[in-house]
Amino acid sequence: MNHFIALFLAFLLTGQSTYFVASSQVAPLDNTPTIEVAEPVYADTIEQQDLLNYQPNEMGGVVVIMYHNLVETEAKEGAYARTPQNLKKDLTRLWQEGYVPVSIDDYVNGTIDIPIGKSPVVFTFDDGYQNNFQFLADGTLDPDCVIGVFEAFYEEHPDFVPKVTFYLNKSFFGDDEFTQKKIDFFNGQQNYTLGNHTIDHSNLRKISKDKVAAIIIEEGKLLESYTGQTTFHFAVPFGEKPKKYFEWLAEDNFLGKYKMLSSLNVGWNPAPSPYDKDFNKYSINRITCGEDDFELFYWLEILNNHPEKRYISDGNPTLVTVPQRYAEKLAEINSDLKLIVYDESGVINE
Ligand SMILES: [Zn+2]
Repeated sequence: MNHFIALFLAFLLTGQSTYFVASSQVAPLDNTPTIEVAEPVYADTIEQQDLLNYQPNEMGGVVVIMYHNLVETEAKEGAYARTPQNLKKDLTRLWQEGYVPVSIDDYVNGTIDIPIGKSPVVFTFDDGYQNNFQFLADGTLDPDCVIGVFEAFYEEHPDFVPKVTFYLNKSFFGDDEFTQKKIDFFNGQQNYTLGNHTIDHSNLRKISKDKVAAIIIEEGKLLESYTGQTTFHFAVPFGEKPKKYFEWLAEDNFLGKYKMLSSLNVGWNPAPSPYDKDFNKYSINRITCGEDDFELFYWLEILNNHPEKRYISDGNPTLVTVPQRYAEKLAEINSDLKLIVYDESGVINE
């Protein structure tokens, strides 16, 4: 393969607008064809015209949505559930308004990698309802379960790659006859992931510290039995955090060999950027689904009317791009990220 083709393939594979170089060739051990691995190389700055056109703001708020189950009629929806049709309506609106799904992991780690001008959205589903992930009697995916709706939407919108985390209790999507097939599914892809929501959904404020640790660890064991992983993201049952929650989490051995990577609240507004001083990975607010006040559509409207409040990507995962007026809100950022602070004329402060 010549150099030009390698470059072109690298571009196709990553879809990035920045430039690339092909790494050195890997010598074949036998008669298999030479493999070339291309690593993306990102620009170390951003064009003034892009700053003016897209107004990237990686200090803006992030939409993290909390859903629970799917229901048959709108009358049954409330703040936690959607009909399959209305879940599709949510995805459609988010896609139309420039949102791109991002995993909870990438959000928490500040490794959001989406095109310039786009905004991240994080999808979470609590309680492991059967209709989150369900197969029909013939073994095909139920098009009206959550994964079915996301997959159908993805097929029509290839730029909306599903990134969804399901926060489970003891039940694994209803524990039906397809449990093993579902476990295999989670181990065969990276778009859908499992999170911890305690084994029994107790209110953490009403039980002892030892019991809090025990019910998180119990669920951790289950998750480990499905995926082999001992780390997990966590959703607090009812959003009720005990007074000393952060203190406990800071203890080295609180969860034994298990490690909590983030902790999600219930309600009510967009969460801070992972680069914001106010960001706390153990206290991430989620917007409830729905169309009433302080629910998803309410916040999407506000973020449309106030784009300056919204996280807008610079399209380059190695840069953190921030308008001057928000620079003072910046937390200390990871040393392999480069900070770009720009003024209203698109001039970068060196
Ligand atoms: Zn719950």
